[in-house]
Amino acid sequence: MSGKLILVGTPIGNLGDFSPRAVSALQECDFIAAEDTRVTLKLLNHFEINKPLISYYEHNKREREKNICDRILAGETCVLVSDAGMPAISDPGEELVVACARLGIEVGVVPGPTAAITALTLSGLPTGRFTFEGFLSVSKKSRKAHLEEIARETRTMIFYEAPHKLRYTLEDLYNTLGDRKIAIVRELTKIHEEVFRTTLSEAIKYYEEQNPRGEYVLIIEGAQPAETESSYTLEQAAQIAEDLIKDGMSASDAAKAAAVRSGLKKRDIYSFITKK
Ligand code: SAM
Repeated sequence: MSGKLILVGTPIGNLGDFSPRAVSALQECDFIAAEDTRVTLKLLNHFEINKPLISYYEHNKREREKNICDRILAGETCVLVSDAGMPAISDPGEELVVACARLGIEVGVVPGPTAAITALTLSGLPTGRFTFEGFLSVSKKSRKAHLEEIARETRTMIFYEAPHKLRYTLEDLYNTLGDRKIAIVRELTKIHEEVFRTTLSEAIKYYEEQNPRGEYVLIIEGAQPAETESSYTLEQAAQIAEDLIKDGMSASDAAKAAAVRSGLKKRDIYSFITKK
């Protein structure tokens, strides 16, 4: 009889959040696949669990997948954990679940905290409808495409960000989305847990003085639903583009960003600003 795969959520900062069911899953499995075996070993030592560990991370997940599935098909039960939070959420795991589903392997879950949802609940922004955007790409092209795609998104948006990229990301968000409410949530469940409820423009000013530190989740207000096809006049959209040009953007990129934000045509905005 085949075994199963169990996804187990681990704490995002506070070991007290590791549930009794999660401890049992680790105690009862045959082996553990971990994003970083050194990080997971600390967790296992804390709970006095002694189980075989193998690594399963971004750069070996393809080759490991077959080995893990073969062992499960032969009857073993595998627990998958990441360094913190839920596996498969901006962490390895998604492909392994797909592979198990394809092979008819049973997949179970012991849910734990995930930074995205934990931060959303604290944000003070609408939680009824939201989107999870993960990390913005470091590749300029895909980053730009992602930002343009979400410029007219009306649902609350959740982003992960590393401290050294926070300033850059806040500026990109401001340039694409305009000034919006944002909750900057850091160090969840740790000693320095903090929620900064502000606007994108104020956040940019704040981090000119403060060095970003720790782990961050950004929760951003969605766009106001347009009452008509576009709530912007051509003059207003041109003004957005001109402000971006003053900040150093090319006329073409500025017209494109203003078009995304206003819902008007790039061509119209571009000819308006270049004919003036
Ligand atoms: N799988 C994890 C989850 O379920 O939340 C996310 C892993 S992702 C590689 C790591 C990112 O999650 C960090 O860069 C940060 O944006 C966010 N994060 C994780 N722990 C956090 C915490 N304690 N406080 C704030 N953000 C956190």
